[in-house]
Amino acid sequence: MPHHDVAIVGAGPVGLLLACLLAQEGIDVVVYENRTGADDRSRAIGIHPPGLAALDAVNLGAQVREEALELEGGEVLCGGRTLASIAFSAKQRVLILPQRRTHALLVERIGQLPSATLCTGHEVRELRNEGDLLCLAVHTDSAHRADTASFVIAADGVRSGIRSQLGIGWRQQSGRGSYAMVDIPDAQNFPRAQLYCEPAGLVESFPLPLGGRRWVAADPERALGDAEAFARVIWERTGIRIDMPAGLQPTAFQARQHRAARTVGGRVVLLGDAAHETSPIGGQGMNLGWAAALHLAVVLEQSLRDDLPDFRAYERVTRRAAVRAQRRSSFYMAMGHPAEGFGLEPPQHGDQSARDSAASSAHGEHDHHAGRDPADTVLERRLIGGHHCALGRRAVYASVEGRRTISAPGSVRTRTLSVPMRSPSA
Ligand SMILES: Cc1cc2nc3c(=O)[nH]c(=O)nc-3n(C[C@H](O)[C@H](O)[C@H](O)COP(=O)(O)OP(=O)(O)OC[C@H]3O[C@@H](n4cnc5c(N)ncnc54)[C@H](O)[C@@H]3O)c2cc1C
Repeated sequence: MPHHDVAIVGAGPVGLLLACLLAQEGIDVVVYENRTGADDRSRAIGIHPPGLAALDAVNLGAQVREEALELEGGEVLCGGRTLASIAFSAKQRVLILPQRRTHALLVERIGQLPSATLCTGHEVRELRNEGDLLCLAVHTDSAHRADTASFVIAADGVRSGIRSQLGIGWRQQSGRGSYAMVDIPDAQNFPRAQLYCEPAGLVESFPLPLGGRRWVAADPERALGDAEAFARVIWERTGIRIDMPAGLQPTAFQARQHRAARTVGGRVVLLGDAAHETSPIGGQGMNLGWAAALHLAVVLEQSLRDDLPDFRAYERVTRRAAVRAQRRSSFYMAMGHPAEGFGLEPPQHGDQSARDSAASSAHGEHDHHAGRDPADTVLERRLIGGHHCALGRRAVYASVEGRRTISAPGSVRTRTLSVPMRSPSA
């Protein structure tokens, strides 16, 4: 019966990164992945500074910097007006590299580390606790066997089978929506993100490396699954005509948010999407998982050395980071919901909260400079007292003594939200 110090179930970006971190320290780690080929789904593209720090820790940072496109900033737009501009300082930059490429680099890296084994085409179907050992039932197309490990990390994604087996609850959090998305060639190479907060619904557009662009559109009616409907809606909402390559269909996805009721069960630890599902709107799930993997690697090393596993700090810190990230995503999704009856109005003269409003935050703790559209005085405002505020299509988001007050000039609603806007570092 083969034995390993650590067994990781799932070779997504998060499980692979943890495996590299452990193997670099000479720890014997095995990763089981039920897929046989590459995961070609269009998923994460944004790499935030904490994510880049994690890639640096496995010696991939330089390669990623070389291949990725650096996002220069972005705009929040509505009805043809620029509501806010977003700028990143050198320390806060966001890199864009498709997940399939980051994944390929991680697979390549793991192959260079002698104490790591990546077993593709291996599905873990069962986990049993046998005292100080965990026994895994591992199935391939042609055989099944039992392996043992001192610790098991469930990095098996949102539908984690290990989480279910442990009977750990999967609690829904606020923030859900339907979207459609497509990555298409784009000759312009415009290195900025554009967020269209339009009355008919959100449209996001991000540059991709090597001349491409990702378009994401809110799709509450789930009607944008075909290329023609998708292109038409982009045109109707933004006035931009996109060229859909023949045969390319948009990918529909449901944004949902969940958190595991707990992330540790004895010597089994949940990691990445298995522990928390974060809406892609806001682009944080992978970065959050990587930040958690950095923390978990240190705890595992100590636990193996001293044989005194203590995952309490890991559990506390990752939960807190997930709560923050999910609140941010929920906020971004709310900003992009279709609305009837009112649009964003410039603030009334003499309206203190509106005058104190600031530019939009699209990626947490970045330095957001106000736009300079003279037609809209609110855009002259900057961050207040270190708090990040947002200007939305239908609301002015103002920071008042640490609270975020959302006031919607011209609308019937005014409400208060507490939205900590930080980067997804643990
Ligand atoms: C449209 C979209 C856009 C996104 N954009 C961003 C972004 O810009 N930035 C960002 O940070 N995040 C983004 N995300 C989120 C990001 O893709 C996920 O957070 C990330 O993939 C999670 O990685 P993971 O390794 O935890 O899980 P996964 O990537 O889901 O990997 C889990 C792996 O486990 C394997 N597995 C499952 N069960 C078993 C089993 N029993 N045995 C063996 N193997 C098993 C699966 O085959 C899979 O390969 C986006 C997501 C989507 C859908």
